[in-house]
Amino acid sequence: MTSELLSRAEIATRYSLFDQIETKEHEQLVICSDPKVGLRAIIAIHNTTLGPALGGTRMWAYKSEQEAIRDVLRFSRGMTYKAAVAGLNLGGGKAVIIGNPKTDKGEALFRSFGRYVEGLAGRYITMEDVGITVRDMEYVRMETKYVTGLSRALGGTGYPASVTALGVYVGMKACAKKVFGTDSLKGRKVALQGAGAVGLSLAEMLKKEGAAIYLSDIFAERVNRVAYDVGAEVVHPDHIYDVEADVFSPCAVGGILNATTIPRLKCAIVAGSANNPFDDDVAHGDMLNKRGILYAPDYVINAGGLINVANELEGHNRDFANEQASRIFDTMTAILDLADAEKIPTYEASTRLAERRLSQIGHIKHLYATHSNITGRLGEVGRTRT
Ligand code: NAD
Repeated sequence: MTSELLSRAEIATRYSLFDQIETKEHEQLVICSDPKVGLRAIIAIHNTTLGPALGGTRMWAYKSEQEAIRDVLRFSRGMTYKAAVAGLNLGGGKAVIIGNPKTDKGEALFRSFGRYVEGLAGRYITMEDVGITVRDMEYVRMETKYVTGLSRALGGTGYPASVTALGVYVGMKACAKKVFGTDSLKGRKVALQGAGAVGLSLAEMLKKEGAAIYLSDIFAERVNRVAYDVGAEVVHPDHIYDVEADVFSPCAVGGILNATTIPRLKCAIVAGSANNPFDDDVAHGDMLNKRGILYAPDYVINAGGLINVANELEGHNRDFANEQASRIFDTMTAILDLADAEKIPTYEASTRLAERRLSQIGHIKHLYATHSNITGRLGEVGRTRT
């Protein structure tokens, strides 16, 4: 990982497209252009050692192509590590559609995109992400079977927030065991940021175990309702970092841990579902580490959603997804042990664990076998929907 921070313009002038792809060992970048329907999309496949590259499609009004390329390369690589450390047989991929999600959508645009996905013949499997709705995905699905994360109505397992919350909960317990010598959260204080789908589900689990919850959200009505339902104390969104708690759990948005907020934390553990909670992964990850606060890496403990879609692909039900998400306790424990043994931050330990699995499973694949892991739903749905 380079420590030099470059602006988008510098990246564009310093590195060719191939340089950008090769730096982090991406396998493929697909540029999709269909001007008659307004489609400009980019699909990135980072690594398919473990299985087909899976990752959401986001629609965003990128100011430049370079910005879109940077995002799709970064996010697809993140998916490789997330799947690897979760023990899934999936690779890392991502797609971005360049456009304003409020004004630039259309049936033909999404169906055209779907045809590009279909053209990759299963090397990339897509799902919803920022700026994309269920309706949009229905259009994509008319042209390709390589779509997952579906609603129950479309044969999927539905919204995965409760599976994600379960992973966060057991990941938090693994951290508690390390720090307090017991994984029980009874009587522990948890400062929970975000009373959304994951926040609510997590709060219910914490309450059931007897934890005291301090809850914040920018929507007063929502936070009041959730706090009432689960018996939490409401905290103003600006003050959640100052709460004296055992655990700070970011379950709202990314980028909230920075040089201003980290010094304010009064907790022993940070464990939540928000993706990329650090404004700067390395600098702020190290800052938290130096403060002696234990960090449960985001992509390790929030992998429940991905575990859920992986199960959907394999044709399993929600119960199996929950069982797999519960194993995040063991994964988190292994990361904590490795971090201790090697005297490295937890985010580095999780990277090493993921890379170890990629290397070992990559190695066994030199043995010929006809077996394929992703055979469930995709194997059955062998037709194009029109
Ligand atoms: P959500 O949209 O249902 O809830 C997010 C909540 O955070 C909303 O109620 C919002 O008002 C609140 N919020 C936004 N900014 C805030 C702030 N500054 N302070 C306090 N509250 C704020 O989303 P969710 O599904 O609950 O997901 C929560 C986080 O976990 C997101 O970052 C998401 O990317 C991540 N995540 C979710 C899943 C999943 O399965 N839903 C999986 C992996 C990661």
